[in-house]
Amino acid sequence: MIEKNSSLKAFNSFSINAKAELLFRFQNLSQQPELLALIKKTKAQNKPILVLGGGSNTLFCSDFDGLVIKVELMGVDITQDQDNHLLTVAAGENWHQLVEKTIEQGVYGLENLALIPGIVGAAPVQNIGAYGVEFKDMCSSVDYIDLEDGTSHTLSNEDCLFAYRDSTFKGKLKDRALITSVSMKLPKQWQAHCRYGLLQGLDETESTVSAQQIFDSVCTIRSEKLPDPNVIGNAGSFFKNPIVSEQFCQQLLSHHPDMPHYPQEGQMEKLAAGWLIDQCGLKGKKVGGAAVHMQQALVLINDNGKATAQDVIDLAWFVREQVLLKFAVLLEHEVRFIDQDGETNLQKVVNNV
Ligand SMILES: Cc1cc2nc3c(=O)[nH]c(=O)nc-3n(C[C@H](O)[C@H](O)[C@H](O)COP(=O)(O)OP(=O)(O)OC[C@H]3O[C@@H](n4cnc5c(N)ncnc54)[C@H](O)[C@@H]3O)c2cc1C
Repeated sequence: MIEKNSSLKAFNSFSINAKAELLFRFQNLSQQPELLALIKKTKAQNKPILVLGGGSNTLFCSDFDGLVIKVELMGVDITQDQDNHLLTVAAGENWHQLVEKTIEQGVYGLENLALIPGIVGAAPVQNIGAYGVEFKDMCSSVDYIDLEDGTSHTLSNEDCLFAYRDSTFKGKLKDRALITSVSMKLPKQWQAHCRYGLLQGLDETESTVSAQQIFDSVCTIRSEKLPDPNVIGNAGSFFKNPIVSEQFCQQLLSHHPDMPHYPQEGQMEKLAAGWLIDQCGLKGKKVGGAAVHMQQALVLINDNGKATAQDVIDLAWFVREQVLLKFAVLLEHEVRFIDQDGETNLQKVVNNV
């Protein structure tokens, strides 16, 4: 299943026109020997390799001069022990469809993470999270193939080094691990999580709130707040919520008393990147075909379907500069930037290094 000079437009939620020199669709573990041979050949030519899921957290800054491995492994296995439902899910399964399926089967715990685009295999990479719940809360282990030597491994939750939008797959194992499946443990004694954001309207202490209700609320809130990537190209939250010291947060609050802030461990505070961008008056700001979303300032969109990667890069840089000027806070992007040689970042692409 090797395609040459293949378009990636349908494989990234920004709908950016980019091409991969080689594209391999990894649909079955029996293709592993063929894949490993292709990886070896690509490395011998000193070309880059990219593992791709649904492309919903990826900005292609240019064509990719190497091998893209699109993970399409399928399969869901749900068993149980006395206290837990145990899930083993192949990496290519769609995350939201998995959440839907578990709720339908009376298996609860994933409902807060409904409507997050992308595949299951990408969930550990940035430890996806929403409405007070993160992937790390239910992950028991992650299986991966080491692209350096073709060996297979299983990492425990602790070994994944999960943190806010972070894991070992963005650190030590970056560009090295191809996740093939994940295992999750969901306690049968279900606990609602409704303390975060707009879910606060639901009372988690009442025995009447159900997982289905939370799932429905999350879907409604997200559909109202976030643009559907199938209609308007985007990659969700473009920037991470910055984490600053308590002391610096107090300085900001003295000038901006209504600034949202969330206490973190170690005398740190999490700020809302969307609020900071909004305060700079940037909702609706356009650069070429890219724009800051009118309803949610944290989301950059492919406004007319014709945005180039350069438009998105220029807009992201402008937003970062404005927030830095007004609040002295440096925004880091959550979206992964990929150029012809592999992963890069906003600073590098703007400075052409
Ligand atoms: C509208 C919208 C809303 C969103 N909301 C949220 C949200 O609430 N919370 C949140 O955390 N994220 C959110 N996101 C971001 C995104 O959906 C998640 O990061 C998701 O996990 C990305 O999945 P993907 O398959 O599209 O990953 P891709 O964009 O394909 O890949 C992302 C990264 O993971 C790596 N990767 C993918 N698959 C594998 C694999 N099998 N093995 C190893 N590495 C792999 C890639 O190399 C890349 O570095 C949102 C995005 C959109 C468009």
